[in-house]
Amino acid sequence: MTEPVAVHPLVSPWGRFGLYSFFIDAPEPAIVDTGIASSPAEGMVPALEAIGRRIEDVRWILLTHGHIDHLGGARALWELTGRRARVVIHEADAPLLRSRRAHVDQYVDVRQQYIDNPDAVEEQTQAANCVISGEMEPTMLVRGGETLALGGDVTVSVHHIPGHTAGSVAYVIDGQQSVFVGDAVQIHGAANGFPGYEDPAAYRSSLRYLRDEVRPQHLYLGHPYRNADGVPFGVELDREAARNALQGSLDLEARIDDAVRRYFHAGLRESDSVYSPFAPVAEELGYTGDPTLEPSPFFTTMHGHLTQFNQTS
Ligand SMILES: [Zn+2]
Repeated sequence: MTEPVAVHPLVSPWGRFGLYSFFIDAPEPAIVDTGIASSPAEGMVPALEAIGRRIEDVRWILLTHGHIDHLGGARALWELTGRRARVVIHEADAPLLRSRRAHVDQYVDVRQQYIDNPDAVEEQTQAANCVISGEMEPTMLVRGGETLALGGDVTVSVHHIPGHTAGSVAYVIDGQQSVFVGDAVQIHGAANGFPGYEDPAAYRSSLRYLRDEVRPQHLYLGHPYRNADGVPFGVELDREAARNALQGSLDLEARIDDAVRRYFHAGLRESDSVYSPFAPVAEELGYTGDPTLEPSPFFTTMHGHLTQFNQTS
């Protein structure tokens, strides 16, 4: 590799969140993650114009995972490229690109059982309809281990890093260890103040894999995640900050795991608390955020720990 490949963050605001996509300025340009339906036209087009690039020249749409705020803009972006960009996603999260209904089903399967909101399914359905620009079949399904050729001598390798979702992947610009992880490194969570992951054991081993094997020189995050004091990390981390983010994520997962094991052994009790039936866990961890605010990382993560506990004890 001669010159390092430039990476530009593309930001579009959405409610409590900043949605981050990243432009990889390769001979065949790529965009990692797509925000929501409005993001390509409103966020990406002007941001690319400002650096002298055109959205119709983008040739790769690299999705880190299937959540609506990462793939919601995929169809719209693909259309803006004249349907010429290849759309890449892990096969385990591909159903979320093919179907809006799959997002509602995920809510019903997990979070609905903890959140007392009779309108939630209607709200989830509306959100999927507004926020996702269109259902589509991906061009390329990956499992991890693939290498994508972005023209010249630029290659991007795909690494499966499940945990946040089953189909989370990291894209790595080879030779400069620029690593795009979407939401797979949660630290203390984003606006909601709690890390969100579906599968605790997978989350832990993916974090270790990133720390010990991938060893990012530059780490690009999907949101400004926070440290223990609630201070946001940026979304572009250097080597030192990347190590801190990975270690901080591992440390918090270990604390949560320790707390849930003790309380799950003692038996879960329903209560009037909004954290029910995990109120003692929230109290021990000092979590005071609103666990009903979607996407509700607290209940997603607690459900993951409970599933793991039930399988191993
Ligand atoms: Zn996510």
